[in-house]
Amino acid sequence: MTPRYSMADRTALVSGASSGIGAHLAKLFGAAGANVVLGARRTDMTDAIANQITASGGNALAIPMDVTDEDSVIAAFDAAELEFGVVDSIIANAGVAAGGRSTDIPLKHVQRVVDTNFTGAYLTAREGAKRLIASGSREKENGRIVIIGSITSLLHGEGDSAYAALKAGVAHLGRNMAREWVRQGINVNTVHPGYIDTEINADWYETEGGKQQIAAFNRRRLTDLDALDDPVLFLSSDASKMVTGSEIIVDDGQWL
Ligand code: NDP
Repeated sequence: MTPRYSMADRTALVSGASSGIGAHLAKLFGAAGANVVLGARRTDMTDAIANQITASGGNALAIPMDVTDEDSVIAAFDAAELEFGVVDSIIANAGVAAGGRSTDIPLKHVQRVVDTNFTGAYLTAREGAKRLIASGSREKENGRIVIIGSITSLLHGEGDSAYAALKAGVAHLGRNMAREWVRQGINVNTVHPGYIDTEINADWYETEGGKQQIAAFNRRRLTDLDALDDPVLFLSSDASKMVTGSEIIVDDGQWL
């Protein structure tokens, strides 16, 4: 991967960096010159990715982070700051799925999605913003927050209600936070990926249902993981100085 935008002199924290999109973005930021902080619960996995980044000449730190737990989020930012200084690119990526029709799905599964995908994004973004504001982002205009939404926020399916509604929710959260911090030098934007083959849907695309889903997409294919590279890098870097409160759909036209 050859990053199109530079992240030199930036410290980026990626939540949910142990697998899938977050792991990929962490490596991308490392290649783009950022100090990378990898947050997730499975630190054996983030440790391995951090080692890969440092072996390639980058700077990386793996930290334990449970986005559903405010103390853990605060501790993660503390650890990041101790190692690299204030985090100025924040990627609220951690997420889980809970499939099942609303009439069938156990409430505790719904609650897990609320806690991770909504509260987790909220806590991650606001902890980052608090520290940016305290460090003078108003003058520096260096704050970048990217929330990973989902194309499901625009779709109406069967068995995805809470997940889809919460992804619509985080996009609106992003717009509101963008407005709250518009004079604090912090830009907040949401990227909505299409369906990508990662752990969150592991093995699904090998099933009959999964194959049918792919066949129903306009281009009959999944979205590539690296399709997110340029949009996320742009929104996380200096290049997006005047972009805030926006949403970018990166789904190969799946939702159309
Ligand atoms: P993965 O399952 O591969 O990754 C999810 C990541 O979230 C893992 O690193 C996991 O780390 C982390 N995570 C889950 N719960 C927590 C928690 N409580 N605290 C901290 N980290 C947590 O899936 P994806 O990479 O696909 O998903 C990443 C994001 O992209 C999610 O928000 C998802 O909703 C979104 N998305 C995915 C799409 C897809 O098709 N794959 C499409 C659109 C959006 P750990 O378990 O180690 O804590």
